Amino acid sequence: MPPINRELLDAYLDDALNESETAQVEQALRQSEALRRQLRAVMQDRDRGEHSIGAIWRRHRLSCPTREQLGSYVLQVLEPDWQDYIEFHLHTIACSLCLANLADLQAQQQEPVPQVRKRRQRFFESSAGYLGVCRDTKK
Ligand SMILES: [Zn+2]
Repeated sequence: MPPINRELLDAYLDDALNESETAQVEQALRQSEALRRQLRAVMQDRDRGEHSIGAIWRRHRLSCPTREQLGSYVLQVLEPDWQDYIEFHLHTIACSLCLANLADLQAQQQEPVPQVRKRRQRFFESSAGYLGVCRDTKK
């Protein structure tokens, strides 16, 4: 593996690397804040230089999880490796397509939550002083 330079990051963003090279770049990104900064700078350069739909699509498509995988991520039922990968994709790569998708999925899945929360709140209020035995508390 050559040192990770601008050309390699460009190739990575273009999805032009093979699987093992991609994995190595992602591994390196995970380990190096400096490299993540460099990747962000490359992405910003590209944002300034490339505005075609094709370029934008290519940039954002980089190894995106499917909507189903994102849904499983929200539910935290994925294998730990996948959970990590999507975490990385969302928060380090900050893929705007997937973040938008995620927000949508979370909105869907959280619809019933206010009800549950209200019920919990009532329960907590009515059992003030006895919180230690609250079976609704997930640890
Ligand atoms: Zn994505």
